[in-house]
Amino acid sequence: MKDTFLHKGLRNKLVEHLSEKGINNTDVLDAINNVPRHLFMDNAFVNFAYQDKAFPIGSGQTISQPYTVAFQTQLLDIKPYQKILEIGTGSGYQAAVLNELNTHVYTIERQKDLFKKTKGFLPSIGYQCNFFYGDGYKGLEKFAPFDRIIITCGAPQIPQSLIDQLKIGGRMVAPIGDGDIQIMHLIEKISETETKITTHGEFSFVPMLNDKQNGN
Ligand code: SAH
Repeated sequence: MKDTFLHKGLRNKLVEHLSEKGINNTDVLDAINNVPRHLFMDNAFVNFAYQDKAFPIGSGQTISQPYTVAFQTQLLDIKPYQKILEIGTGSGYQAAVLNELNTHVYTIERQKDLFKKTKGFLPSIGYQCNFFYGDGYKGLEKFAPFDRIIITCGAPQIPQSLIDQLKIGGRMVAPIGDGDIQIMHLIEKISETETKITTHGEFSFVPMLNDKQNGN
């Protein structure tokens, strides 16, 4: 499938909508404008790709709502060339948006079929990321520390292992809560032992699975 003028037009409209909803970082809006979201969706949902909604991507998972992707990305306050860890690769859409911001993306997925699918798909449309299959709770010790960490599934609490893998001065954005609703948290790492935590409204995510729950 190609990226047509129709898709580009719909994407422009989506960006206008996100801007009306309060996304004002132009780099984030440009990134959303550049990523062909319809290529990330199952054929049955392609016509809905530029609606501001989450959709199923198989394996019981979803591609996040564009507003949520834009909101989390804006909260991360990304600078070019930063090293970013994403928990929950899913469709790869969020990873592509991060890639558009000229960052080095490390992304972890807990479900093997999604990991394999997205590891094959993203490079095929020009996005280079480092893909890992495993438990995001543990992060990626080997590649730490990270400038930014983004969790794209609902975590019951802020994982300490991920705070440990954040640079001093780094930011982590994480939806916290184990029910249907999560509260978006921004965790700024002030020093080796101090963090500043602020909350940024309610969102709804699929749950973060840990080792004891079998994701696949
Ligand atoms: N960022 C994705 C959103 C996917 S939904 C996108 O843009 O499409 C959240 C994803 O987190 C799911 O694919 C789910 O399988 C994954 N996930 C859940 N628990 C996880 C864990 N402990 N480690 C890594 N990934 C996890």
